Amino acid sequence: MKNSQALQHIREQMEENYKDLPLVSKSTDIVPGEGNPFAEIMFIGEAAGRNEAIQRRPFVGLAGKLVDRQLEAIGIKRADVYISNVVKCRPPDNRDPLPEEIAAFAPYLDKEIEIINPKLIITLGRFSMGKFIADAKISLIHGRLHKVPFQGKTRFVLPFYHPAAALRQGKVMDFFVADFSKVPKILAYVKSKESDAMLEDTIKETLL
Ligand code: URA
Repeated sequence: MKNSQALQHIREQMEENYKDLPLVSKSTDIVPGEGNPFAEIMFIGEAAGRNEAIQRRPFVGLAGKLVDRQLEAIGIKRADVYISNVVKCRPPDNRDPLPEEIAAFAPYLDKEIEIINPKLIITLGRFSMGKFIADAKISLIHGRLHKVPFQGKTRFVLPFYHPAAALRQGKVMDFFVADFSKVPKILAYVKSKESDAMLEDTIKETLL
């Protein structure tokens, strides 16, 4: 199955099984991930907000506009990345997602990660950071690349503050903008590590 079909299949599965999902009272409450099915960079946010729930698209409100601007500033098109959320629905009054809500949507998000197989995962906020890096403080680790074992693979994860937090506090905005500016270099680094690993495999195979 092609990546785009596989992603469409996830969307259909969520919609078909919507009665088993928390926060969802009808299939159209679901806000699926979107973007390039072969993206090198995958962003993972927290949960849909009001605008996202209306448009059924992730990060289309003010926080999303900030992400769009920062992507533009580093010369990356939004259409080239993939964007999803740990919870694919809007929690009431935009409250924090609950552990059981995150757990209920996790199989769908995990499948998206597996299909896209991104070179770099950028987490937006502490809930998506917590999926990969346990017991971390975002203030201590934002903007620092982490190599994380995840579902039998090594994933490169770069935690960012949530853009909504950046919009609320000038200091966080400074960190957010600075962290974003590092993305091209970090992506190049991650890709060089991947080619090193491929080279090592080739050498091993040649030596065998
Ligand atoms: N905040 C998120 O975490 N996700 C969205 O899609 C929008 C706002």
